[in-house]
Amino acid sequence: MPNEALRELYVDELRDLYNAENQLVKALPKLAKAANSDELRTAFEDHLEETKGQVARLEEIFKMLDESPKGKKCAGMEGLVKEGSEVMEEDFEGEVMDAALIGAAQRVEHYEIAGYGTVRTFAEILGESEQVSLLEETLEEEKAADEKLTEIANNVNWEALNEDETEDEEVEDEPVSQSSSKRGAASSTGGKPAKRKNGRAA
Ligand code: FE
Ligand code: ZN
Ligand code: FE
Repeated sequence: MPNEALRELYVDELRDLYNAENQLVKALPKLAKAANSDELRTAFEDHLEETKGQVARLEEIFKMLDESPKGKKCAGMEGLVKEGSEVMEEDFEGEVMDAALIGAAQRVEHYEIAGYGTVRTFAEILGESEQVSLLEETLEEEKAADEKLTEIANNVNWEALNEDETEDEEVEDEPVSQSSSKRGAASSTGGKPAKRKNGRAA
């Protein structure tokens, strides 16, 4: 029966998603904690609640199939979560950290969208219409989560840019006020104050 092989693949992919979602239940609170803006933190917290519902939906499907949800580790999600952890270890601040977190989170959403699109199609082919509806609900949540992150990114990225400009201005101002007594000698050499002292002898 060719259906049997496809059903096996379907169950296998569902197990992969089940493991992926459970990895996210652990990872999303960390992302929320690392977020600087209230808007982003709330988005992560809301999606955590949705993710728990997605786990429950998958469990419902496994019950219908009379199969165990366990037995697979999602290596793709493991890698994406690891990249998220790497982002959190960087010393990005404020809106720049938020922009980095959004970048990591959107990779996760796109990965899930691909995964749920696949199993939704398998369920259709196998004639499991109830499972199609459940998987589509999750698929829509993942798409909405991705769009929400894009919306937040539109604000955050511009603020991150402004943050950078403010810092640049401060850097330019400092040497002038701090080394005003040497202003005459330094005026045309700006940019490498550390080398200036030795530079004279050379
Ligand atoms: Fe999910
Ligand atoms: Zn996977
Ligand atoms: Fe998601």
